[in-house]
Amino acid sequence: MESVRVVLVGVQESGNIGMAARAMKNFGLRELYLVAPEADPLAEEARKFAVGARDVLEAARIVPTLDGALADVHWVAATTARARYGYPGRLATPRELMPLLRARAEAGERVALVFGRERSGLTNAELDRAHYVVRIPTDPGFKSLNLAQAVLILAYEFFLAEPRETEQPRPAEVGELEGFFADLEVYLLEIGFTDTRRLPHAMRRFRRIFHKAAPTPGELAMLRGLLRQGRWAIEQGRRRS
Ligand code: SAH
Repeated sequence: MESVRVVLVGVQESGNIGMAARAMKNFGLRELYLVAPEADPLAEEARKFAVGARDVLEAARIVPTLDGALADVHWVAATTARARYGYPGRLATPRELMPLLRARAEAGERVALVFGRERSGLTNAELDRAHYVVRIPTDPGFKSLNLAQAVLILAYEFFLAEPRETEQPRPAEVGELEGFFADLEVYLLEIGFTDTRRLPHAMRRFRRIFHKAAPTPGELAMLRGLLRQGRWAIEQGRRRS
């Protein structure tokens, strides 16, 4: 349970931070990160709704960027109410996904559950950082839950899940993986694989490939070496001509 982090991005209502902290503590989760919150986690409203979970609230970490909240985790599951975020093979319900995340957390791998803004949710760029996108099934006519209630449902399903073991080895941390993506972006432009206009689309597809593969630190070092060597070869070619 210590290895599961709840991340609220751009939260807008203090009451929701309090209720989210309460829902977390009910189901054994304690690590709360607030990314650029628009509401005060220590406002009276937040304390009131946290009830017996004020300790979780007071220990919440505030960070300016989503990357800052994810750098040291191994697996990211981001939530959305929207069905249109197409992510074949990566879109799951909490009940489908939690046995897997439970096994990984029990193996000591850090897991982040990411939630969006009350009014607009997570952006596509934020969802692109996730290994898994989670949608809570609802009546198709009214899909959007209250933020803290969405936290409650994920925490509850995680709490009840029977771990489902996999052969997948522990991947590199998200900060390392994002470093590779940053290098890959520069490289794709350098070799003319794509142009700046189409880069976001290309990167989204590459992200999916590497999120599925979940490379280990050694594998990631090899991929970064490949880019470095490619750059060196380009540089040599330029010198020769
Ligand atoms: N209009 C927004 C809804 C935001 S609700 C949107 O289109 O996404 C605030 C947050 O609660 C969401 O970002 C998500 O983290 C969570 N949430 C709400 N309904 C959800 C659902 N059906 N499945 C998964 N998460 C949900």
